[in-house]
Amino acid sequence: MTELLEVRNLKINFKTDDGVVQAARGVNFSLEKGETLAIVGESGSGKSQTVRAVMGLLADNGYISDGEIIYDGLDLAKIDKQDIHKYRGSDIVMIFQDPISSLNPTMIIGKQILEAVLLHNNISKKEAKNKVLQLINQVGIDEPEKRYKQYPHQFSGGMRQRIVIAIALACNPKILICDEPTTALDVTIQAQILDLIKELQEKTKVGVIFITHDLGVVANIADRVAVMYAGKIVEYGKVDEIFYNPKHPYTWGLLASMPDVDSSEEDLYAIPGTPPNLLNPPIGDAFAVRNEYAMDIDFEEHPPFFKVSDTHFCASWLLHESAPKVNPPKAVLNRMIKYKERYGTNE
Ligand code: ADP
Ligand code: MG
Repeated sequence: MTELLEVRNLKINFKTDDGVVQAARGVNFSLEKGETLAIVGESGSGKSQTVRAVMGLLADNGYISDGEIIYDGLDLAKIDKQDIHKYRGSDIVMIFQDPISSLNPTMIIGKQILEAVLLHNNISKKEAKNKVLQLINQVGIDEPEKRYKQYPHQFSGGMRQRIVIAIALACNPKILICDEPTTALDVTIQAQILDLIKELQEKTKVGVIFITHDLGVVANIADRVAVMYAGKIVEYGKVDEIFYNPKHPYTWGLLASMPDVDSSEEDLYAIPGTPPNLLNPPIGDAFAVRNEYAMDIDFEEHPPFFKVSDTHFCASWLLHESAPKVNPPKAVLNRMIKYKERYGTNE
């Protein structure tokens, strides 16, 4: 495997009238060629800002206060905003929740894809047009010739997201970042878009970072999962490790609180409390106040990563050798059985 991207100790701050919001508080992860890494966590945990920093897309009041983003031997955290443009939208592309905001409403979609193709491929206009038709087809849209001439409003939400994916592919990216790309879509369309991303990923070997607040969608698509809470990654591992051997009580909560069509009411669980205010993050483990298994040390010191396997790490004091052994609650165990029946394992 070849390492594509490495993020080390990334810290992102936002200046506000009330003080400094610490959106990322020392985030580490890496992405290999051809793999899909899912970043999951409740809303506000810092997922979007982490990848926006990689893209050089932080809002004006935001800045990287520490850390490195290593891509192609360069630290994207340190290079000028202008230089990031060399990578953003070519080597590294991002698709968002709302496809309509990525498309120009006044331009036919064929032209929008064509612009990307011409910008990123050294080919003639005629060849480029053929490539556009091919791309429209590749993302699963019929009648490419007819669709070429239509405007975004003539497409459904799912179809628009397919167009955005076609534009992303036209750039021949090395890294595709998907920030909740299916959240605005209904369940059936959601599944189709996920299948499409997975299929394209297998074909092009693009490295994918897939962000979602919904653990359910990652089972089918991710190779590895990073669980984020209050600006930190608290557990990461292969998808099977996170689904079938989760160690962090926050991961347990996420797994158990996922809405699911065939689970009974008593299986449904809600993580108590709310995430901390990142204007003033607590000392120690930010999850402690919501953690029924919290110990004194949780309120004093942030836990280091404890090794569960060569590929699985968890930042919870519960994994310390002198901590009491606790097992996931029954609702979580039931979920794990259900997931195993439904998704099987990757081994
Ligand atoms: P997620 O994608 O996990 O839902 P985000 O990464 O968008 O969360 O946000 C992380 C934190 O950063 C949140 O507390 C959010 O309110 C804060 N934040 C994001 N953008 C800004 C901004 N421009 N100014 C101040 N705070 C911001
Ligand atoms: Mg987000």
